[in-house]
Amino acid sequence: MALPPLDLPATHPDRPIVEPSPARVTEPDGLAQLRLLGSGSSGNALYLALGEVRLLIDAGLSTRAIVKALAEMGLALSSLTAVLLTHEHVDHIQAVPGLIKRCPRLPICASLGTINACRELYGWNLPFIELEPLVSTCFGMVQVTPFEVSHDAAQPVGFRLVCRELSFALATDLGTVTPTVVEMLSACRVLAVEANHNRRMLREGPYPDRLKRRITSGKGHLSNQQTAELLRAVAGPHVEQLILVHLSEVNNSPGQALTDLAPALKLLPRSRVAVAAPRVPGPLLQFSIAAGKVHERGAAPLEASQLNLFQEVPPKAGPA
Ligand SMILES: [Zn+2]
Ligand SMILES: [Zn+2]
Repeated sequence: MALPPLDLPATHPDRPIVEPSPARVTEPDGLAQLRLLGSGSSGNALYLALGEVRLLIDAGLSTRAIVKALAEMGLALSSLTAVLLTHEHVDHIQAVPGLIKRCPRLPICASLGTINACRELYGWNLPFIELEPLVSTCFGMVQVTPFEVSHDAAQPVGFRLVCRELSFALATDLGTVTPTVVEMLSACRVLAVEANHNRRMLREGPYPDRLKRRITSGKGHLSNQQTAELLRAVAGPHVEQLILVHLSEVNNSPGQALTDLAPALKLLPRSRVAVAAPRVPGPLLQFSIAAGKVHERGAAPLEASQLNLFQEVPPKAGPA
């Protein structure tokens, strides 16, 4: 799908990465907040706040949907520190022109390959900020490290974010689990990982063979079985929250994903597990930035029906 070119001046003023006040995140009781605004082929966006650093990872919903979801949390678009993009597929970037039109100084950060692809495919002449894989960039107290993943895009990445003792990693849109992915997800307390499809549902489902081959290729998407293998490699009692993202609406379901992953989830004895529902924002999740504190579910101003669609599995009893 072609996106409209941006009507912005070619020479846009340089926009340094915002350095928010670190005062709040230096407090031992600082909270991290996470909310999936959308997940799946209909559009992906994840809000993550670590103290006063507020990040949007991917902007694959409509601009209106993103602005609305932020407003539900009492946030204006201008309060975002930056937007991080995983890759140039439309379900991850479609709101970028609309966000920039509403908030021209909002930093949009991506790998060089993604930046070039956005320019070539969509004609976007934006002052992107390049993030180099395996090189950490600090946004206030938050260290952001992109890492390359195998997917049919120019230079797709996942992200590992560290703020004091809280570490978070997102790995979505990848066809195979590489040692780099395992390394970057290891020791993270909060994980958002793709569980795209059940192999049998995809094989027997309505997709054309060409699309099935693309999805199952090494540059496609993770099956539930592959996600289980990844979890086995990074599992442990240090994981507090796992969020399964980018589920196919045709070739998977939250219940099927949980069934396929059940043996691997036993290796996460202290973790809550949430499965993202497509098309509706999830609840606001809260975590302590300091280590060793029990995280808590935030009281988000959401409709009860939305909470039900974001399926959660309570943590299993385990060592404190
Ligand atoms: Zn993709
Ligand atoms: Zn995608």
